[in-house]
Amino acid sequence: MNTERSFNVSLNRRDFLGTSAKVAAAAAAAGTFSFARGEQATAPFAFEPLPFADDALEPVISAHTLSFHYDKHHRAYSNNLNELVKDTPYARMSLERIILDTAGKPDQAGLFNNAAQTWNHTFYWHCLKPNGRQMPAALQSRIEASFGSVQACKKELAQAAVNEFASGWAWLVADGQQLKVVSTTDAEVPMTDGLKPLLTIDVWEHAYYLDYQNRRAEHVEKVIDNLLNWQFAAQNLDSELSVKK
Ligand code: MN
Repeated sequence: MNTERSFNVSLNRRDFLGTSAKVAAAAAAAGTFSFARGEQATAPFAFEPLPFADDALEPVISAHTLSFHYDKHHRAYSNNLNELVKDTPYARMSLERIILDTAGKPDQAGLFNNAAQTWNHTFYWHCLKPNGRQMPAALQSRIEASFGSVQACKKELAQAAVNEFASGWAWLVADGQQLKVVSTTDAEVPMTDGLKPLLTIDVWEHAYYLDYQNRRAEHVEKVIDNLLNWQFAAQNLDSELSVKK
């Protein structure tokens, strides 16, 4: 059984998987990252390593912020998730399936929040990279087709991140062929609305407060200008043909 899969998302609510072997093979051949995902990856869920060193994102995100964010916040979600699924039917489900099965169920809010935050953070770390300015040409044309220009896309992403009123996430997503910017509150994920995530920015205060205090806009602008992993977004977009909606 292949449990090491390239990240991919199926938009079919009942079958949130859809990793195509072709995409995984292409990602492996290109030397791009993959993280363990898929129907076979069940509890206990691994606390996945950061794809870079603690200080790799300085000066935009300090090692201090990153170590708290990863080692305290993300680790707590991951530990809570594993505690909550223990000895329940959820222990036999993939993380993605748990998220979709618990979304919108008030009696499963704790499990949803911890499962979604575990997923969101693993995804987020891969959305960041040092000197992440390069954008693959194919992604650039898709962004230009949907937003008019790369600049307009970045502006919309920044606005979504700054305007998200409380704790939450700003996302670049694919809605079929159309690329869009959306924001979600708390642990919410775009997949529950049938949207496929390409990139995200964490705008919970724990993501920036140690470095920027209340200056969320400044943090967001610097992340967008310096740290976004557009290759990762392109890789997520490339898997689109295998997505069922
Ligand atoms: Mn966070």
